[in-house]
Amino acid sequence: MPKDFEPGVKPRPKRATRMSDTRRLFARLREALASGAASLPDIASLVAKELPADACAIYVTRAGEFLELAATYGYNISAVGRVKLRLGEGIIGAVAASGDALNLPDAQNHPRFAYRTEMGEERFAALLAMPVKRAGRILGVVAVQNEQPRMFSQMEVESVATVAMLLAEILSRAGATNLPEEGFSNSLPRRYAGHVLSAGIARGPILPYGAAGPIAQLLTDDPAGELKRLDRAVDMANATLDGLIAASLPGGNAPRDVLDAYRMVAQSAGWLGRVKEAINDGLTAETAVDKIARELRERMRRIADPYLRERLADIEDMIGRLMVALGGAKPKPERADGAILLVRRLGPADLLDWHSRGIAGVAIEEASPSGHAAILARALDLPALQVDRGAVEAGNEGDEALLDAEGATLILRPEPDVVQVYNRALEARSVRAAALQAYRDKPAITKDGFCLKLMLNVGLAMELDQLERTGADGIGLYRTEIAALASGGIPDVAGQAAEYGRVMDRAKGLPVQFRTLDLGADKLLPGESSQGEENPAMGWRSLRVGLDRPAILRRQLRALLLGAQGRPLSIMFPMVATVEEFRAARDLLEAEAARVRPAPSSLLAGTMIEVPSLLFQLPGLLAEADFVSVGTNDLMQFLFAADRGTPELANRYDTLSAPVLELMERLVVACEEAQVPLSVCGEAAGRPLDALAFAAVGVTTLSMSGNAILPVKALLAETDLSTFRPILRDLRRSGAAGGSIREPLTGWAREHNLPV
Ligand code: PEP
Ligand code: MG
Repeated sequence: MPKDFEPGVKPRPKRATRMSDTRRLFARLREALASGAASLPDIASLVAKELPADACAIYVTRAGEFLELAATYGYNISAVGRVKLRLGEGIIGAVAASGDALNLPDAQNHPRFAYRTEMGEERFAALLAMPVKRAGRILGVVAVQNEQPRMFSQMEVESVATVAMLLAEILSRAGATNLPEEGFSNSLPRRYAGHVLSAGIARGPILPYGAAGPIAQLLTDDPAGELKRLDRAVDMANATLDGLIAASLPGGNAPRDVLDAYRMVAQSAGWLGRVKEAINDGLTAETAVDKIARELRERMRRIADPYLRERLADIEDMIGRLMVALGGAKPKPERADGAILLVRRLGPADLLDWHSRGIAGVAIEEASPSGHAAILARALDLPALQVDRGAVEAGNEGDEALLDAEGATLILRPEPDVVQVYNRALEARSVRAAALQAYRDKPAITKDGFCLKLMLNVGLAMELDQLERTGADGIGLYRTEIAALASGGIPDVAGQAAEYGRVMDRAKGLPVQFRTLDLGADKLLPGESSQGEENPAMGWRSLRVGLDRPAILRRQLRALLLGAQGRPLSIMFPMVATVEEFRAARDLLEAEAARVRPAPSSLLAGTMIEVPSLLFQLPGLLAEADFVSVGTNDLMQFLFAADRGTPELANRYDTLSAPVLELMERLVVACEEAQVPLSVCGEAAGRPLDALAFAAVGVTTLSMSGNAILPVKALLAETDLSTFRPILRDLRRSGAAGGSIREPLTGWAREHNLPV
């Protein structure tokens, strides 16, 4: 790894004269600020003279959602206070509306250009307009212009961006500017479209987490002192990284080389050098770190390559640590009762942590419905949405939000009549939930009498209530890693045995299929970091770790046997790719079983079918496995080569498609022939229409999260399977090319008033 590795950044030529211009500009601004005489016209003239540019204009947001020209240099002075632009009007209004800067070589030929005679701007061609943002609000716009048509250089863009940061601070503090306390976005509702991760509707105060907070001091006259503060913060952040490396994997087997590579990227001289450069220009350490973070995020928005994005994310992670060390980032609040959390990314451990702090819902910018955070949100019945980028920045803490994880919309600052509509929807939801209760004690049976077994997917003790609440037939998937993620580590054998024993107690004799630890990829224990694999979902994870480091797996198997205390025990293994792997895992189980007393009254060893290679080893596999369970989440991602965590792919491939239903049907036949019980336990099993289609191709056991059981039972109860089968068969034929048949199936169901 090169010492100053930073993806997406070309080395910048040194430009000594420009550097000193920037430094002088900030020094003059600092002097003006320190003397308390930094009026907006002074700032406009300073920027124009020191950048240098031919003209500079500062627009500020006024109540009533318009921008007013507040100060100029180089334009007609009489325009100040007279030029007013609506949000979206002209180039300046467009910059305020989008929050994105515009750098135009010839503004007058731009389609958004709106000519204002009073400005006297005819002679200017080049325009750089930068939004003045603070905590997601647009407080104004600062623009510079030149007579000569040319793009402003990267260095000039960075300088004006820093001036905009300073202006944001000045404007939000200054009563003197007659600025309304809040900018545009604070009073305007904003809507974000997205994908549903966990259905539900929540209303509450916004809690953005991960957006930059206000910085107390922006400029410094003591760069040497700030550089020392930065060095101390880097040391502190390094120390936390060292701690992470030491405690990286359960059992202390730190993949040092990988974590060290991460550290090299995170601490690379490239971006740290640019932070130091900005401090030397006169910014405080936190302003300089924040400036580089903004540039980095801007670049991340433009980079599609997942590897490069990951490396940039490493740097962003390190920047977060640095901000904490500098005292410039806020820690998590103790409680967040009723809040709507807005975050960029969220791992399953963090989701559990926030849930325990009381959030009512969560919107995540980078997530997908079959990712583990989404699965966990469904298990917790916590409304969750993946939303378009920008929501975290636009969310002002404490404002109201409506998280509609049914209609897939997040509304920040909803209008009162919209709130009323949602209040009615919330009431309708509780009426529907009450109606579904009628199915609780009924068996899962279709209108024409086909019986199914509906089991629960469980990972947390608190979900065990769902057994009684839903009338499920047992636990089809107990994800043992979730408790480890929740408690921050894997308990010792006695602790695990106690947990598994409690689960069996609560199941009161109903079957439970325990799955051994499925850690790795996005399920990382706190303190563990990704190993830097290019494809962690296909990497050294799950049973692969269990077989290579058998001590952890053997301890878990012993704990399961001890927890059973002579009761029947079913164990299944995740991420099995070959019959040999299954056999090796089963051998470990049998070796442990030979030692534990009392022995379970029956011991079944099964496997998840998540890796497509198993589909081509069915005779061998079914001769050895006592049962199999299809994990559609992973199977879909490997079958279609489509990362389950990538939001852009979430709706691209569908379980309701000819290839997947074909596969299921063949599996059903093979399992029936071999007399091996088959179930489906991926998220698709809990979607009513998918569940019905699986039943139609012969699946008789489905395992799903608790909140899916009653809706699935309701649809089965209303549907005549013998009428549905030919409909499905025809649609499968028409969709044989591989595309989704969800839409026509949904249409058919709606026509027949079925509850989908
Ligand atoms: C699956 O892959 O479908 C599955 C049930 O396992 P998990 O979602 O825990 O990976
Ligand atoms: Mg899986």
